[in-house]
Amino acid sequence: MQSSALLLLSAQGAVPRFDYALFADTGWEPAVVNRHLERLEGVAAGAGITIRRVSVGNIRHDALDERHRFASMPLFIAKTDGSLGMARRQCTSEYEVLPLKRQARRLLGYPHTARVPWGVYAEQAIGISTDEFHRAKDADVACLCNVFPLLDIGWTREDCRAYLAVHGLGDTPKSACIGCPYRSNVSWALLRAEEPEAFADAVEFDAAIRHGHPAATMRGMPLEGTFYLHPARIPLGEVELGEEAEAGERGARRGPARVRSATGRSGERGRVRAFGRRGACEPAPTRGRWSWSRSHWRRPRRSWRSGTGTWGRRAGTSSASGSGMPTGCW
Ligand code: SF4
Repeated sequence: MQSSALLLLSAQGAVPRFDYALFADTGWEPAVVNRHLERLEGVAAGAGITIRRVSVGNIRHDALDERHRFASMPLFIAKTDGSLGMARRQCTSEYEVLPLKRQARRLLGYPHTARVPWGVYAEQAIGISTDEFHRAKDADVACLCNVFPLLDIGWTREDCRAYLAVHGLGDTPKSACIGCPYRSNVSWALLRAEEPEAFADAVEFDAAIRHGHPAATMRGMPLEGTFYLHPARIPLGEVELGEEAEAGERGARRGPARVRSATGRSGERGRVRAFGRRGACEPAPTRGRWSWSRSHWRRPRRSWRSGTGTWGRRAGTSSASGSGMPTGCW
């Protein structure tokens, strides 16, 4: 939702135009996400922005391939001693963060293993809205400088949804793997209603990972218990997802919302059709009063507002806080 709004803002010139937009494809996205991406590609192309899909493989295939290192998804575990647990999540960094970083290095002209000289970096605009400001963090490598245009203009997720709606993108879906264990009942119910084949695929996958990664079984590693996609720790196909969840979701899509301009002023009203699906890789928004302030994070080298583009080679200066950044990427 927020990333789509940010791209549209850039395409319309409300924030500095991006040179590239990157989409991390885990290889197991619902069809609705791929269709939406194709729409965005048209929007971006009209503004001269190139969308690149980056990927390191298919998370579903890798999770079931005994020759592949386990693509650790946050599976729910019913342990043999009766306690409950969760598998450690590594899929986000492996299938999303890593390919994005590698692509950024390629765009800078220093592909993986080549040392990125000090002072060469790309600005990376991330679609984080004010209701999830706690997710805004500095990049952990010196060749990237994270910026957050939606925070700069004070937009919430609701603002993004309304903005997309008035531009014909009110049905923007949340990007998440088909079989992501972080899906809510509402999200599972929507998937079952709108893409029954994809839901059946998730049910099949759920059965296939019941005893963990096949490599562990082959190597005689002791099993901690049984693994599930759903927190109820029962097979996905047997979970009561409830029709009311679907109804609630459809109701949420119909609510009107106020549309704000990129300058933060209120504007026209519009009717919104919105997906209420929270992204799988996205932590829950914080509750309570918004309390973000600009000083909560450090901008290491330069202000986004003074920039002329998103990517490029620029002479680095010392950070605003005076602290040095490590030279080169990982
Ligand atoms: S959407 Fe879910 S399964 Fe897919 S990479 Fe993110 S956390 Fe992992």
